[in-house]
Amino acid sequence: MLARVQAPEGEGRDILDAATREVIGRAPEQTAADLDDAIARAKAAQPAWEARGHAERAELLLKVADAIDTNAEGLARLLSREQGKPLNGPNARFELGACSAWLRTAATTPLEPEVLVDDGQVHAELHYRAIGVVGAISPWNWPLMITIWQVAPSLRMGNTVVTKPSEYTPLSVLALISVMNEVLPADVLIGISGGREIGARLSSHPDIDKVMFTGSTATGRKIVEASAGNLARLTLEMGGNDAGIVLPGVDAAAIAQDLFWGAFINTGQTCAALKRLYVHDSVYDEVVDALKAVAEQTPMGPGLDEANVLGPLQNKQQFDIVNRLVEDAKANGGRVVTGGAPASDLGELFYPITLVADVTDGMAIVDEEQFGPTLPIIRYTDVEDAIANANRLDVGLGASVWGDRDQARTVAARIQAGTVWINSHGGVHPMIPFGGVKGSGYGLEFGVEGLKSVAVPQIING
Ligand code: NAD
Repeated sequence: MLARVQAPEGEGRDILDAATREVIGRAPEQTAADLDDAIARAKAAQPAWEARGHAERAELLLKVADAIDTNAEGLARLLSREQGKPLNGPNARFELGACSAWLRTAATTPLEPEVLVDDGQVHAELHYRAIGVVGAISPWNWPLMITIWQVAPSLRMGNTVVTKPSEYTPLSVLALISVMNEVLPADVLIGISGGREIGARLSSHPDIDKVMFTGSTATGRKIVEASAGNLARLTLEMGGNDAGIVLPGVDAAAIAQDLFWGAFINTGQTCAALKRLYVHDSVYDEVVDALKAVAEQTPMGPGLDEANVLGPLQNKQQFDIVNRLVEDAKANGGRVVTGGAPASDLGELFYPITLVADVTDGMAIVDEEQFGPTLPIIRYTDVEDAIANANRLDVGLGASVWGDRDQARTVAARIQAGTVWINSHGGVHPMIPFGGVKGSGYGLEFGVEGLKSVAVPQIING
């Protein structure tokens, strides 16, 4: 079983183990002609896939989920090496579990036609039909789970999909697709390995009807521009800089674990991670100390070591961003509570959990998305200031408020973000819609709304 989830052999680009920097495989570099051929095949396969109907597609997708479960350990090990995330903790094995869970929900969630008017004279219904060929473009942080988030609802609704993984994490996604394609009919799901140019060509191709994109805001803007040409519908899940607000009166020790994982799930490389923490003056020191205690007890190291739950940065570019932001904070008066310099003893891309206290809005570590294992902790005295600062940036993916539930809900209603969690941060659920506001994108994934977003509405009147 495991043989077929090994990295593909042959020509291509070396892919390194994120922790050890050993070559683990070679990613094929596919050409524009390969992409055009893939889109043509997906387009040809789409009508027959749609014609199978919901029940048959659901049955096949449930079998795909079973195949992923059967291959989960092999896929998790490849993911762990390529992406860097440890097997344990909310990491590689957890990601594989999410893949099959999301597939099963996308397969089985009902989406019935709605009767809009039925007054004896007019009978009008709203149905949801397949769009056509979906282009799915994914990032390197949760490469398998995000691919499934894009692909599963698209297939369920009768679309075919051409999917392009990040150039940083192609091997695990191609392995996942090969497992899925042992169940699916030919050309319903096609993986294409390549860089930014292939992503650009996919999103602008005239035969692409919908683009599901997860990645940076800068790339998302280019996809919006490309959509002027092919009028592809878009779902854009982009960067964030999620604020957390800790209200007075919290029990710091009781919330420390949840705060920690809200910020540092996947070693901080998570779109909806807690990226700037506003803590009321009355509990500031306790919260900082409690977070420090958790950080210093949480093991970091190579992902295949069962003891570790934190790993390296996935790539040098992201490592350099984290290092730059911490150095800038230090130079501008930030107080490093723990961490603060590369963990070179662990390997080239390891950076320790770094808590930076006594920072303020306007500093780069607060204003820019770090997407890694560092958290700025900002002191406030008036919750109005914390709310204003939370809303100050031009992104709005997630946010959280910590404290008395009723007070927290009142604050939550005033935060500009697609999701506001109360006393937790970042948890997603296959039936709860997820999406951003402002520069974090538009469109919703998951649940019934997610199915609608990969379909076109059609009115049957009469
Ligand atoms: P990225 O935008 O650099 O790359 C994402 C994907 O887009 C890759 O597959 C890349 O090859 C492709 N791409 C690059 N240029 C393109 C173009 N011109 N046209 C089409 N595709 C193109 O992002 P990344 O560095 O891989 O991911 C990190 C970012 O993603 C962070 O900002 C993070 O917050 C965000 N993210 C958001 C979510 C979410 O759900 N909102 C989830 C994960 C990551």
